[in-house]
Amino acid sequence: MPQKRYLFTPGPTPVPPQVLAAMGEPVVHHRSPDFKPIYERCLARLRDVCRTERDVLLFAASGTGAFESAVANLVTPGEPHLVVSAGNFGERWAAMTAGYGAAVDHMRYAWGETPDPDDVRGRLREREAKAVWVVHSETSTGVVADVQSVAAAAREAGALVVVDAVSSLGAIPCETDSWGLDVVVSGSQKALMTPPGLGTCAVSEAAYAATGSSPRFYFDWERTRKAQAKLDAAFTPPVSLVAALEVALGLLLDEGLETAFDRHVRLGRAARAGAKAMGLELFSPDEDRSAVVTAIRAPEGVDSTDVVRGLRDRFGMTIANGQGELLGKVFRLGHIGWFDVFDITTMLAAVEIVLADLGADVERGTAVTAALEAYEHSHVA
Ligand code: PLP
Repeated sequence: MPQKRYLFTPGPTPVPPQVLAAMGEPVVHHRSPDFKPIYERCLARLRDVCRTERDVLLFAASGTGAFESAVANLVTPGEPHLVVSAGNFGERWAAMTAGYGAAVDHMRYAWGETPDPDDVRGRLREREAKAVWVVHSETSTGVVADVQSVAAAAREAGALVVVDAVSSLGAIPCETDSWGLDVVVSGSQKALMTPPGLGTCAVSEAAYAATGSSPRFYFDWERTRKAQAKLDAAFTPPVSLVAALEVALGLLLDEGLETAFDRHVRLGRAARAGAKAMGLELFSPDEDRSAVVTAIRAPEGVDSTDVVRGLRDRFGMTIANGQGELLGKVFRLGHIGWFDVFDITTMLAAVEIVLADLGADVERGTAVTAALEAYEHSHVA
């Protein structure tokens, strides 16, 4: 295994040195004046990144934990909820809401399909729902849903909308307030360029007003909201991670959210152009919205598990295999957070070598040029 390691998955993602340095600072006490300014800045920056005026709740948890806070606070057993799924994470939320006793109407698309807001509108006419649960960027397939339109359909029907923005927040536009998103959940280890361990949850007044009777304590929104308002965390927060997130969000806001969104669109274009130049077939949609992760079908006769293993063993590079039903069939190149075009060309060059070794019929020597051209010569409208 080579010494040098590359992390090219759609989470966890590479962490910039300034953020790692913040993790290495001495641990401070969370109720002391040493921590409060860090906490305050971190929460303010989170509001900016979520594009919301409201407090964003911060939990010591992965994205799934922050999502469970939404389920535990909003679901009362027996209530109707509409869960839209088109991949691994949507299916997780269908199982979780059902686990809390919701009467789940599971609108299940095949993996790789893009949810259609008109389908959601139609479904809500047939069957009422307290909330619509939807994934913004379905990391298992590379599909990005039009959550703005799904939210509009939910609002027309008087339903709340809960968005899994775990892999999208900070990479592609996610306008919490102006799109009328009631709950937006994310995690530190994706486009927020921080190690895993923090889950975030933006909550609207309507969602606070609609909380139900499921048992909860650690994840009770009201408890965390009140504590955060006084900068006095309800429970011991992972202070080093909060300090790291504060720095990472500062980097993102210094770059400018719009600039970061443009960069991600161009990174997605570069990844797709390179894969196509090699003669590979994309699994994720060939569209600008698909700027989080590029899912590529393994060529005829190749198991994507061997591609993933080859990159790791020969070059110290970690990319992602397919999940669930796509295991062995696709491999996924992540490009959210601290990525530039040379990360894309590095991955493509290595994929090309490994596929050639595996006997795949790939076009050699064109992917890197195609990726660079797609990145350099593209302007985002
Ligand atoms: N939702 C999406 C879209 C994700 O990409 C992930 C993580 O890969 C999750 C949810 C789960 O987040 P975590 O692994 O942080 O619990």
